[in-house]
Amino acid sequence: MLSLCRSRCLHIARRHCRHLCKCNQRGGGAMSGRSCREDLPTNSRVLAAFDFDMTIINQDSDSVVSQLLPREQFNADLLGLVQRCGWVVFIREVLLLLHERGIKSLDIGNVVRRIPAVPGMLRLLRKLARQPSLDMFIISDANCFFIEEWLLAHGVRHLFSGIISNPATVEAQGEVMVWPYEEQTHCQHCPRNLCKGSALHELLSSECYERAIYVGDSCNDLCAIMRLRPMDLACIRLGLELHSKLKTHMNAIKSSVLLFRDGHDLCELLFPANSRTIQFQPQNHYIHS
Ligand SMILES: [Mg+2]
Ligand SMILES: [Zn+2]
Repeated sequence: MLSLCRSRCLHIARRHCRHLCKCNQRGGGAMSGRSCREDLPTNSRVLAAFDFDMTIINQDSDSVVSQLLPREQFNADLLGLVQRCGWVVFIREVLLLLHERGIKSLDIGNVVRRIPAVPGMLRLLRKLARQPSLDMFIISDANCFFIEEWLLAHGVRHLFSGIISNPATVEAQGEVMVWPYEEQTHCQHCPRNLCKGSALHELLSSECYERAIYVGDSCNDLCAIMRLRPMDLACIRLGLELHSKLKTHMNAIKSSVLLFRDGHDLCELLFPANSRTIQFQPQNHYIHS
């Protein structure tokens, strides 16, 4: 069995390992969370956390893969899984039905890899990665298989310190299995399988980050955006779900808010006049429109 992310614990351990290694390369201390705090009293690092669907890629990966299944298979039983058991169980069933039709993990990977990036987003990711004190993470309700396949195909996997998403495995017969990242009940904003706000808080509470940027497009990014601090920056994609409901939630957002159309736009807003460092209080001409 090819195990891409055999358990949530393994995935979290791998993420923290990379994260702490990066901190310790600078601090030279022992490999632990404590040493990270003690070696960096000035808290000089920046965290950049990205949603995946409609933020890095220009489609919803679950929807793209679901469309491989003939429309007649979306009966009441299958659709009812979303309400009864949650989105992850629904997608797992879709993937099993695809497998029964002979559509294997390689085929699914091919479809995911062909999803286009949001224009300019690859350029932005590479530019951010060149910042000397910046760590990039993905926090996504897609799954690790889709995300890893896409990032590797586009040559940007190595730019990310970690991926926080629903774990996925490829089983012996070639079927893709997806599992919930967690079973949470504390947050009403988020689905049971992943509270993005808690995931972001966990990263921020390492105390390595002087500032943070969160980039997202939909209401499932709101919980994470509400966890941002006044010195942080929420980047919300213009014209999509969260932007349309932003006025309702503005009072709950403590950070600056930046609206962007695509990666080119966001790159120019974060790095005005091609500046070498990120501008955390960029002028945004869309915010009041
Ligand atoms: Mg999204
Ligand atoms: Zn939440």
